Amino acid sequence: MSRKILKDIEIKMKVLKFGGTSVGSPANMRAVMKLVADGEKKIVVLSAMSGTTNALVEISNFLHKKNKESASIAIGKLEAKYKEVVDELFSTEANIKTGLAVVKDSFDTVKSFTSGSFGEVGENTILAQGELISTQLFTLLMNENGYVTRLLPALDFMKIDEDKAADLLYIREHIRPVIEKAGEAEYYVTQGFICLDADGNINNLQRGGSDYTASLIGAAIDAEEIEIWTDIDGFHNNDPRFVENTRKIEQLSFNEVAELAYFGAKILHPQTVLPARIQNIPVRLKNTMNPADSGTLITDKSDGKGIKAVAAKDGITAIKIRSGRMLMAYGFLKNIFEIFERHRTPIDMISTSEVAVSLTIDNTTNIELIKKELNKFGTVEIDTDMSIVCIVGDIIQEEKGFASKVFNALNGIPIRMISYGGSKYNISVLVPTSHKKSTLQALSNNLLNN
Ligand code: ADP
Ligand code: MG
Repeated sequence: MSRKILKDIEIKMKVLKFGGTSVGSPANMRAVMKLVADGEKKIVVLSAMSGTTNALVEISNFLHKKNKESASIAIGKLEAKYKEVVDELFSTEANIKTGLAVVKDSFDTVKSFTSGSFGEVGENTILAQGELISTQLFTLLMNENGYVTRLLPALDFMKIDEDKAADLLYIREHIRPVIEKAGEAEYYVTQGFICLDADGNINNLQRGGSDYTASLIGAAIDAEEIEIWTDIDGFHNNDPRFVENTRKIEQLSFNEVAELAYFGAKILHPQTVLPARIQNIPVRLKNTMNPADSGTLITDKSDGKGIKAVAAKDGITAIKIRSGRMLMAYGFLKNIFEIFERHRTPIDMISTSEVAVSLTIDNTTNIELIKKELNKFGTVEIDTDMSIVCIVGDIIQEEKGFASKVFNALNGIPIRMISYGGSKYNISVLVPTSHKKSTLQALSNNLLNN
């Protein structure tokens, strides 16, 4: 083990994550190289090039349906795209050859699943290829341009446990030896998204998981800062995909971002800030296309000015249990909650009255079993295609009349449930997804932008 490398690890490094669009073309990869190569040692986490993971999901779906012909056509298309990328990315014959070998290796792996049986490990192996390719090509590009860069294989240190939660202890123990083994370098590159599971099989941190990879690494090496580089100038006060006139927020607290990301702000994977919050490591969101912009800084401090932002989470199912007899008897809610616990289904919102209790879930895998058991306690009604709209800020500090302001803003929106007072950071309303966009726009117009 080299002393020098150990010393380098002890120097505080930054962890920078670049998303799919940021590495989505050879030109963008070169722009990322310029941002990375500033002379400061760092760990760079990369996603797959944009579009790749969707294409790999499509290929897996064809294979699940045993539609090998369509799978082969999709594989051929994607492989051809990567061959063009390699041609454009490198200047020397030797590196073009190495790049093509990287691509061939990954696509040989994908093609190996077009015969024989196809299951979860096969699917996860296919989904991992996007990050495996992007990181190898980027490392080669850095070295071609004279920056000494080493690859840290994520599967050697990134792990989830039986409950699919990240195993931070394992990651902390394993990442240092991996850095040491990689050897002396100016820059380190690793794959976002992918990991091993408790059985040692290849798995992943779910869509958007590269953000989570970056914060887990940041927490594991006690990084100076975790930077999430993406295609927008920071955290906006509303979802720019659905609402006009959203504005960037300069500073947010870990708690505020945890609520917003959990409730659907796509800019960050829902769990991203949790490891950073444990170690109190600042997280900064930056725009790869506009690096001069300050972005959004996330720390343990809120800048304390009332409502900050709203976000929406789709795919929510509302369940109402109506019971004349025993609703408010003690033990009733416990019995209800136990059913959800037994079926490993988290509850997001809850609302009670004398005659009924309503709650929401987003994982409907076991809904039929849950419904059957709930039927013992009363009449069960289920509404699907709902969205939780979450309004986040330091709400206690907001002047009086906050709730009425929210309800005035939502005049005309059919609200199915409301949750207020659970924490001082959030008020949530449940609306049909068909009304999500108008709900978000109404909040921007009447609450955020004046
Ligand atoms: P990456 O591929 O870099 O991870 P993502 O597409 O996952 O990028 O996240 C960035 C996108 O998140 C933005 O382009 C934007 O459309 C969307 N987004 C949703 N909500 C917000 C928000 N509150 N602030 C900023 N961006 C948001
Ligand atoms: Mg993302």
